[in-house]
Amino acid sequence: MDRTHLKQHLEFAAELGVAGMSRDPAWRRRPVNLEPAAPAPAPAPLAFSKSAADALVAVRTNIGDCTRCKLHAQGRKQIVFGVGNPEADLMFVGEAPGADEDAQGIPFVGRAGQLLTKIIEAIGLKREDVYIANVIKCRPPGNRNPEQDEVDTCEPFLFQQIDIIKPKAIVALGTFAARALLRTLDPISRLRGRVYDYRGAKLIPTFHPAYLLRNPASKREVWEDMKVVRTLLTQCSFK
Ligand code: URA
Repeated sequence: MDRTHLKQHLEFAAELGVAGMSRDPAWRRRPVNLEPAAPAPAPAPLAFSKSAADALVAVRTNIGDCTRCKLHAQGRKQIVFGVGNPEADLMFVGEAPGADEDAQGIPFVGRAGQLLTKIIEAIGLKREDVYIANVIKCRPPGNRNPEQDEVDTCEPFLFQQIDIIKPKAIVALGTFAARALLRTLDPISRLRGRVYDYRGAKLIPTFHPAYLLRNPASKREVWEDMKVVRTLLTQCSFK
């Protein structure tokens, strides 16, 4: 990391509430409290034994120019499938594409996406290291919340992405993603602060970057969650 990037990295970490850094190797190995397993839906069957990259291409091909739910006729420009490392240890799951994502076909590229990139960099990773996807792959009109039939139709594709990538950790961004993945109606304020077992990964719910843009004080809690993620990534021997 050059000096300019290091400076930006430290400034953002301070903005997130980082009070200092420990060089003690024991700190990295400190235990993280794991919650009992949340009931995870059964994995969708995958009909291929290819590289993760090829398998993701097969899922995208299967989705095609999707007309399975009503969103295809409600103004979406394109399907926003997902982006990143097909063998990522860390995956981020958001709600649904917004206008910028719909225009570019890439998740989290608007203002919230730029903040997500900073959050990723704050734990020493690059956007290309992780995989980013949404529960819903098409933009709901006017950025309304996705409806249940849309979630039911689209989430099997997200489950396939998770089962192919096999991340060690999944960060659910915001109430909607956390609720959809954990099958609960609890708000993110109650869900965050705990680690859940989910489809072979550890799931960490946190605030959505768009919420952080409106409520910058909550960056401190997100930083706490990201420290747990960083510890899990170094600690977990599975995968
Ligand atoms: N918000 C989301 O939940 N997903 C995106 O891709 C962009 C904004």
